[in-house]
Amino acid sequence: MKGDFYVIGAGPGGAGAAWAASKEGYKVVVFESSNKLASKPCGRGIPLTGDLPVKIPRDVVYHKIRRAVMYVNGKFLFEYERMFDGYIVDKAALLEALIVESGSELVTRAKYEPRRRQVKTPSSVMDFNKATGQPQGVFAGGHAYYEGEKILAIQYIARGASGIDEASLEIYFDTHILGYYYVFPGEPSKVEIGVGGFAGFETLKRGLDAFIKKDPRFRGATLERLEGARIAVGGLRLGDINGFYLVGEAAGFVLPLTGEGIRPSIISGYEAARAIANGENVARRLESAKISRAVRIQRAILERVKKMDPGEREKLLSMLPREAHAEIALGTLNINRIARSLVDKPQVAARLLSLIV
Ligand SMILES: Cc1cc2nc3c(=O)[nH]c(=O)nc-3n(C[C@H](O)[C@H](O)[C@H](O)COP(=O)(O)OP(=O)(O)OC[C@H]3O[C@@H](n4cnc5c(N)ncnc54)[C@H](O)[C@@H]3O)c2cc1C
Repeated sequence: MKGDFYVIGAGPGGAGAAWAASKEGYKVVVFESSNKLASKPCGRGIPLTGDLPVKIPRDVVYHKIRRAVMYVNGKFLFEYERMFDGYIVDKAALLEALIVESGSELVTRAKYEPRRRQVKTPSSVMDFNKATGQPQGVFAGGHAYYEGEKILAIQYIARGASGIDEASLEIYFDTHILGYYYVFPGEPSKVEIGVGGFAGFETLKRGLDAFIKKDPRFRGATLERLEGARIAVGGLRLGDINGFYLVGEAAGFVLPLTGEGIRPSIISGYEAARAIANGENVARRLESAKISRAVRIQRAILERVKKMDPGEREKLLSMLPREAHAEIALGTLNINRIARSLVDKPQVAARLLSLIV
């Protein structure tokens, strides 16, 4: 045994760290303030891009995703087959599998209070001030601790919708809010209908209600609940809280254009724990991870697109070839490959490069 390793927060960031630290031989304790896992709203989609350092157990997969269908401002853009393979998962079961199967101890209703450097449970207090030396670990408390730009995303959980393809993700870009509406298959017989973007709650809710009303597939559906949360879209903010390295959304590990945070958070937790175990500089290791490059590219594009008007944004989305869309969205963008595939469309290639560089 290498010693104790503490993880604050049992979301994807914390689970990735717990998994890696356990494999490295630490005695891992995960403190989770909530009484259950995955209580934060989430679409639970994970693309299969080959960079996830942990295995997703089959029994936590609700749906296998085979395609994505894209629209912009109500107009059909295109459909991807195979480029967007992924899963919709039972997130609580996935987190539990990663934490518990790795041998980590999970303590729920255990809130870390940064100012006091204490973890409080209903029956005990653990005081890190009394520890000898700096305790090792990561802080994965999520968006509430992120200090950069955030947007709001809200979603209805609906039951009884008809004609939903459970192997598809549907994305409807709305260039006015610089965001998108989505329809994701959810828990069996349920569907998640949501929207995220640069707008306040009232605007998003009004838009989402209108979106649902327009679509005949949702006519007989029951909207069971509306839920929402902020998403960190401002790019990486590496650092620590009381010596616990920030990972996951607390450190900005979310792809800013898509809001995808499960995969980046798991990877960041995993990489941070590996770096700690090997005595490496944690920030440097996180900065050089492939997923960090993807966050930086998407953030650079977001900053440029924010300065455009809705019409220009629509033009841009419509001119980009499918492959470039998919690679930007998934964070797998290979500039040389895209440039080669656009050799007969130099203007599109130049436009794309101008967004990134
Ligand atoms: C509506 C919506 C839809 C989304 N859909 C998707 C999607 O389909 N795919 C995707 O990849 N991403 C999606 N995301 C983003 C994704 O949910 C997050 O980026 C991801 O869960 C972040 O993981 P995390 O571990 O950093 O933080 P979180 O998942 O927020 O986990 C943090 C955990 O820490 C706990 N905690 C907080 N403070 C303390 C404390 N002081 N002490 C102890 N515990 C604490 C919290 O209770 C929580 O369990 C969506 C987000 C929203 C809002």
